[in-house]
Amino acid sequence: MVRVQSNTIVTGGSGLVGSQFGGDVISLSSKDCDLRDSTQTERLFSVLTKDGDVKSLIHCAARVGGLGGNMNHKGSFFYDNITMNTNVIEMSRRYGIEKLVCFLSTCVFPDDVEYPLTEEKVHLGPPHWSNDAYAYAKRMADVQIKAYGEQYGLKYCSVIPSNIYGPNDLFDVENGHVIPALISKCYEARETNSDFVVWGSGKPLREFIYSEDVAKLSYGILKEHSDCGSVILSTSQEISIMDLVDVIVTTMGFKGKVIFDSSKPDGQYRKPSDNSKLKSMFPDFEFTKVEDGIRNTIEWFEENVNQKREKISFV
Ligand code: NAP
Ligand code: GDP
Repeated sequence: MVRVQSNTIVTGGSGLVGSQFGGDVISLSSKDCDLRDSTQTERLFSVLTKDGDVKSLIHCAARVGGLGGNMNHKGSFFYDNITMNTNVIEMSRRYGIEKLVCFLSTCVFPDDVEYPLTEEKVHLGPPHWSNDAYAYAKRMADVQIKAYGEQYGLKYCSVIPSNIYGPNDLFDVENGHVIPALISKCYEARETNSDFVVWGSGKPLREFIYSEDVAKLSYGILKEHSDCGSVILSTSQEISIMDLVDVIVTTMGFKGKVIFDSSKPDGQYRKPSDNSKLKSMFPDFEFTKVEDGIRNTIEWFEENVNQKREKISFV
């Protein structure tokens, strides 16, 4: 948990990353306001900022999912993200928010681009087809932030995290990200003595970052580097899906058969990123090792198995 020290709005406060902020935080979920609706969003901002002491905001709220969610719900991923980002950034401008950190994703990068990914390469070509709707919607937040910088002099910034995981993730086996989906499926296979089915070949590579690390870094950026433009949040360490499966199987004590289902997609093969800018800002930051982060996530999952978030609701 990251303790926030000055009145700060966190959108998406009930989510994987947003729930890692505590202390002096105004934590919002979709129950407080549908951020896709500009009238509701404006009303909320006018109330929250009326005393003039709320000047910072971390914008985590989004329509978020993994490969399945992105491929099968492109309309929702586009509309929800472009409207939420547009409204939050515009109302921040209207209601005196001085520092804002907006969440993008390494999914926004072009599919065909020279690796490693760096902050300057966001717009250099089309994103991977599987998540293009989400990626283009998120890219527009970058455009909006730059435009507001030029026209209004606002120094809002964005973070570009790689694949995030941790306690309170969305454990949706159809639409969620790979780590929560695999933890859910491995648990089910262990409890029912059935096979553990993994999508694709297991060969793709991903960079995973623990949610608490993301919260610490994004709060650090809000406090100390809020005029940084955009910055990639990643460990820059790749792991194959096959090796990830090994970590999950070992940690969960699963003794059954693991099947790689080649009828399911592999998605993008890899998206290696360069974290030099982040390291120059926080040279002493120590990332949580993936084995430790996964162990904590599995412990949380086993303790919360009946009250975990397990379905994206598309409304
Ligand atoms: P998450 O767990 O899916 O949480 C999403 C949050 O957004 C929830 O608090 C949700 O509120 C809120 N929300 C959704 N629709 C809303 C709406 N219409 N109005 C108001 N609030 C709404 O997301 P996350 O994984 O923490 O992601 C945080 C940020 O990191 C997002 O911007 C995401 O794009 C980015 N990111 C995530 C990953 C990843 O692997 N998870 C990777 C890269 C970047 P309810 O709980 O009330 O629905
Ligand atoms: P991405 O990192 O944005 O592509 O999204 P994901 O977190 O969904 O990771 C997708 C990668 O994990 C692909 O290579 C999938 O083939 C692989 N994968 C293996 N099993 C699963 C699964 O059960 N769910 C998901 N979402 N991905 C899986």
